[in-house]
Amino acid sequence: MQIRVLGSAAGGGFPQWNCGCPNCRGVREGTIKARPRTQESVAISADGQLWFLLNASPEIRQQIESFPALHPRGPRQSPIGAILLTNADLDHCLGLLSLRESHPILVYATDQVRRGFTEGNVLYRTLERFPGQVTWRTLDLGREIALTGPGRPGGLRVQAIAVPGKPPVHLEGLAMPAPEDNIGFRIMDVRGGGVLAYLSGVGQVTEAVREVMEGADCVFFDGSLAILAGLGARRRILIHINNTNPLLREDSPERATVEAAGWEVAYDGLEVTL
Ligand SMILES: [Zn+2]
Repeated sequence: MQIRVLGSAAGGGFPQWNCGCPNCRGVREGTIKARPRTQESVAISADGQLWFLLNASPEIRQQIESFPALHPRGPRQSPIGAILLTNADLDHCLGLLSLRESHPILVYATDQVRRGFTEGNVLYRTLERFPGQVTWRTLDLGREIALTGPGRPGGLRVQAIAVPGKPPVHLEGLAMPAPEDNIGFRIMDVRGGGVLAYLSGVGQVTEAVREVMEGADCVFFDGSLAILAGLGARRRILIHINNTNPLLREDSPERATVEAAGWEVAYDGLEVTL
């Protein structure tokens, strides 16, 4: 399995447009050892030809352009087979609206996340201009399914894991909180090319979350590290990093501490092969 980090920052990116914290100011002025980051999104592929995006960030156009494997190979073509959503937060969904150029797209999400993005959203009509413009495939908690692109299997299987979290800010008070609001992925290469645990917004490490992390070759994670000592995964990578986080500074003591514990800090362009 090939993995490419397209964006590694939390919502708002780094630097964030309205933030003048020491991190954001420092990275703008080039006075700290840190690199700018776009909002969280990761591309994965079993064969290097057909790709799947984990989340669709507001910076999706720039992120696709930043990675030649995602460039079209002909007129009206895209190597992006489908997009998987971890939740209905705007920084994970807004990019879908940017893929409106009359191109059929396939989205994997829980029913709760699909409703959170489509219902009462007049802008969604831009993705309903012709029948079949968007095809939704339901991710049921715990059920493992094959990932397919348009007309062909992707060589990957995915299982959705409930992850404690909150409904998106714009849906607060509109929808009842549900376990399907926020999920992580366990993704397996069917030819034995590794297991990825993708957990980019963990409010609390449950037994199920811990189990998925234990069985993975590579873990992407955002949440409390304190309870994760001794995790066996070969690659352990922090993602969805907030602009104020001292970990963004490559020479900070906080960075040294997590690295000493075997964790890497994701950056845009990081590639992992399992
Ligand atoms: Zn900041």
